[in-house]
Amino acid sequence: MGCGKPSTETPHLIPYTETRTLMGTVVSITVYAPTFEKGEEAASDAYRQMEALERLLSGYTAESDVSRVNRMAGASAPVSPPTLFVIERALEMSKLTGGAFDITVGPLVALWRDSVVRARLPSDADLQAALLQVGYRKVKVSEGAEEATVSIPVGTSIDLGGIAKGYIVDQAVGVLRRHVSSALVNAGGDVYALGAKPGGEPWVIGVQDPRRPDDLSAYIDTLYVTDRAVATSGNYARYFEIEGKRYSHIVDPRTGRPVDSVPSATIIARDATTADALATAVSVLGATGTRELVLSLPGVESLLFVRTEEGRWERHASPGISALTTKPPRLD
Ligand code: AMP
Ligand code: MG
Repeated sequence: MGCGKPSTETPHLIPYTETRTLMGTVVSITVYAPTFEKGEEAASDAYRQMEALERLLSGYTAESDVSRVNRMAGASAPVSPPTLFVIERALEMSKLTGGAFDITVGPLVALWRDSVVRARLPSDADLQAALLQVGYRKVKVSEGAEEATVSIPVGTSIDLGGIAKGYIVDQAVGVLRRHVSSALVNAGGDVYALGAKPGGEPWVIGVQDPRRPDDLSAYIDTLYVTDRAVATSGNYARYFEIEGKRYSHIVDPRTGRPVDSVPSATIIARDATTADALATAVSVLGATGTRELVLSLPGVESLLFVRTEEGRWERHASPGISALTTKPPRLD
């Protein structure tokens, strides 16, 4: 074929970035590819996968698996393999976190959303009534040869909002891997860094400063990662506002109340499903509970910014964080 290039030439990779709104958040994908067209093709394949999974896992569309499970409470609802995987993973995370992560918080989330509409805090009686419907052990999964089903009792509902984005990011990365070896996916705080940047530099991920929520370029910390997931749960990003006060969108499944001591919780893990669920869970567990949990989990690190009762800010980092916050020296 005539004018072949020398085979020793290293391919020149160019960055291609695309941003779309998905899963109620801004999702951006950056890939390094040999051409603009190849980058565009990789990103659009990944977005297609994300959109398909969103249709199964979203609680906001009536046709999703999640909505079917909730509508069919009291009976067994058929679910597709991805939904089965996410629910089983969520139940594992519940066991691992002593119930801090719990997808049956649906009735509590509904109660707090309703309180926003009524502009009045829920009564203790309402909270106790909702709490009776909460508990991950109420979720029954059955895997038949033909189909899998999930059942929950009448009155209970599931909400995959604390884990689904992470799973969808992992699946998007699975698609990107078929096209490129260097990419970054950021789904509103659930990030995966695939490979390193060309030349071997790690990906740089800024952790939003929870004290300056309106300035998206204000970072409180910077992480340098390769082949890692980074998920941040922050009550500065999504919250309920009732009687002029802001409440976190993460609820403590034990008390039924929104968490308030951990404004920013970041987890670094090998996959985004785990990082997403753990970031939600450690927001409930607080600094001491997080420390114990993270030390027991290989490959997992945590970075929390907490607010003491006196209003002071504290940074709580697991031992492996210092290696990720320092830019590695160039050795070439
Ligand atoms: P994230 O932004 O990943 O921390 O997820 C927060 C979302 O997860 C909320 O908007 C709820 O839909 C759901 N959620 C709230 N509290 C919990 C909890 N304790 N365990 C699991 N999911 C939760
Ligand atoms: Mg989460």
